[in-house]
Amino acid sequence: MYMNFNIILPGLEDAIITKAEEIKGTYRVHIKLPQRVQQCPECGNPTNLVHDYRIQRIQHLKMFERDTYLFYHKRRYRCLCGKRFPEKNKVVERYQRHTIEWNQALGIRVIQGKNFKDTAAQFRTSQATAIRRFDHISSGYLKEVKELPKVIAIDEYKGDTNEGKFQVIIANAQT
Ligand SMILES: [Zn+2]
Repeated sequence: MYMNFNIILPGLEDAIITKAEEIKGTYRVHIKLPQRVQQCPECGNPTNLVHDYRIQRIQHLKMFERDTYLFYHKRRYRCLCGKRFPEKNKVVERYQRHTIEWNQALGIRVIQGKNFKDTAAQFRTSQATAIRRFDHISSGYLKEVKELPKVIAIDEYKGDTNEGKFQVIIANAQT
C-alpha cells in the first residue's frame, strides 16, 4: 500500500512521492508520475494502458545534507498496436544515473564553485565528471578570435584539470 506525501520536490513538481526513508545515512525517496495519456512512438495513437513498472535508482541532489537517491517507479505503457514504451518524464534522461535536476545544479556549481575538487565532493561524484560537465558547458561560450586585442594579459595559475596542474589564462586586458 502506498501513502502519498503531500509535498513536492522542486524541479520535480510532477512527481508523486510514495515513500521516503533514511537508510544508513542516505535519504531515499520513491516517486512516480501521474498516469496520463501518452502518444505511441510507433503508430502515433494515444494510449493510457499501463504495461508495467520498473524501479530506477537515480542519484539526486542532497536533501537534508544526506546523499539522496530517487527510486523512480518508471511506468511503461502499451499501445493497442503492440508497442511498449516508457512514459515521458523530466526526472532523468535515458541511460543517465543522475537526475536532470542534479546535472543542472552541477552545471551551475562547476562554473561558480571555487574548484572542481570541492564541487565534486559536494555532489558526491568524481572530479573527472565535474570537469567533463564544465567542458561541456563552457564549450558553448568559446568562440574563435578573428583579430587579436590591443592589450593582452597573460597569467599562469595552479588548478586541476584533466590536462595537468598548471594553467595559463590569456585575456583581453581592456575588457
Ligand atoms: Zn501504437
